[in-house]
Amino acid sequence: MTWSRRSVLGGASAAIVTGLAPRPAWGRTETDVVIIGAGLAGLHAAHKLETAGLKCLIIEGEMRIGGRLRTLDELPGSPDAGGIQVGSGYHRLRAIADDLKVALNQASGSGAGAAEARTALFHINGETVAPADWPKSPANRLGDGERATLPLALGFTYGAHLPRLETPGAWLAADPTLDISYAEALRGAGASVEAMRLIEANLNGNTLAGMSQLGVMRAAAISRAGPGPTATIRGGSQRLPEAMARALRTPIRCGQVVTAIREEADGVTVETSRGALRARHVICTIPFAALRHIALEAPLAQPMATMIAALPYTRASFAYLSAREPFWKSDGLPETLWTDDPWLGRVFVLGENPPMLKVWTVGAGADLLDRATPALASAEIVARVEKARPSAKGKLKVERLFSWQKSPFARGIYHHIGTGQAAMLAAATQATGQRLVFAGEHLAQESSGMEAALESGERAAQTILTRY
Ligand SMILES: Cc1cc2nc3c(=O)[nH]c(=O)nc-3n(C[C@H](O)[C@H](O)[C@H](O)COP(=O)(O)OP(=O)(O)OC[C@H]3O[C@@H](n4cnc5c(N)ncnc54)[C@H](O)[C@@H]3O)c2cc1C
Repeated sequence: MTWSRRSVLGGASAAIVTGLAPRPAWGRTETDVVIIGAGLAGLHAAHKLETAGLKCLIIEGEMRIGGRLRTLDELPGSPDAGGIQVGSGYHRLRAIADDLKVALNQASGSGAGAAEARTALFHINGETVAPADWPKSPANRLGDGERATLPLALGFTYGAHLPRLETPGAWLAADPTLDISYAEALRGAGASVEAMRLIEANLNGNTLAGMSQLGVMRAAAISRAGPGPTATIRGGSQRLPEAMARALRTPIRCGQVVTAIREEADGVTVETSRGALRARHVICTIPFAALRHIALEAPLAQPMATMIAALPYTRASFAYLSAREPFWKSDGLPETLWTDDPWLGRVFVLGENPPMLKVWTVGAGADLLDRATPALASAEIVARVEKARPSAKGKLKVERLFSWQKSPFARGIYHHIGTGQAAMLAAATQATGQRLVFAGEHLAQESSGMEAALESGERAAQTILTRY
């Protein structure tokens, strides 16, 4: 069965229980499957299981649905803080959106924040440089063969020198000698120290040394398999999980935080902030960076235990800024500001009406923002954007600082394959568990991001269904 409109109208409306509802007397409860997490993985797994006739319950620690799809409706322009870009190869997501009449915007634009702008205004080594001036700028300290390459293109340029995976799933059985750090791979491809410093400044990870080359190769294979324009979800990414939740009969209990999970021979006990629950099976979609802080007693396969403890998650910290006017239109310079300043990382224009921008820092830069007081972080950001781009002077206000790794429900934005971890993660994605089954974007085999969450939720549901 698909996520049909009929199932929305015909079924009982989703029993989304928020913290405002009276606290039920739960105690020890029997249900077929408890699903931990109302993100894409948990919602999709619930749909598959309830369609097959199983009794499920979703418990969610936060007071809202969507997990790492989060639309900040309280800010001007309702920007997204989590996943944004819907790849052309996201077959599951596109089918669900279609069934649930959740519209996609075909043009994403750099306003999506995660989009890789093709050009930018650079602020490097303390100097602001327009793209045309970059090759000859004194701020350009790249090696001879690199000087003509824009800083934001260095990763792509050297990426072309990396070995290729034939298919998105080929990383699962890749030659272990390929599982070297991205730093080693770049050095091998001839990247200068300065090129590596600039690639690391705005990496989709924390450090070049801590990321496996295989993760970069996997991302390239996924994008080759699903080329073409990306889309965004109309009205904000969170609209999709909200629609998925409405279409379920499975109750969703928000504000119920899991504190411990114990697997026994005949079922699984889940300790929560509102008492214990018991189910024949549990699907746990908590990101491993967060799960490693929760008591877990279960006969785990060794690769799963190792990955729960050690899978790295990218640290990113954001600031949302409003502008008195779209100043970027008045100076004739590119919209996006791309810097090696750890306080700024990249500054994307989110939109013109209302004029909003997003600062996107990663790794050590995200740590810096997170350690500063909000007042200091806001003052540094505004002063540094004004210095890099004088047309912004006096026009900016920080509306919100947002850090995923500060959230106990995420502790990072998404996983990457740590150096030397590919075989272990591949084995973890194939481990089926007994009564406790894991899902989430980190356990996908062939896709990434939102589609990965759906892929893993589907597999977890199938694993459980084979046992009934
Ligand atoms: C900044 C950012 C940018 C991104 N950009 C993109 C993009 O452009 N394109 C793309 O495809 N993907 C992107 N992603 C990734 C995408 O958003 C995720 O892969 C996907 O949403 C993950 O879904 P999930 O169900 O696996 O996990 P989640 O959505 O994290 O769901 C897990 C759920 O478990 C809950 N939970 C955690 N701990 C507990 C607990 N103790 N008790 C109860 N509940 C708990 C959480 O609150 C959460 O709701 C991005 C993510 C981020 C953060």
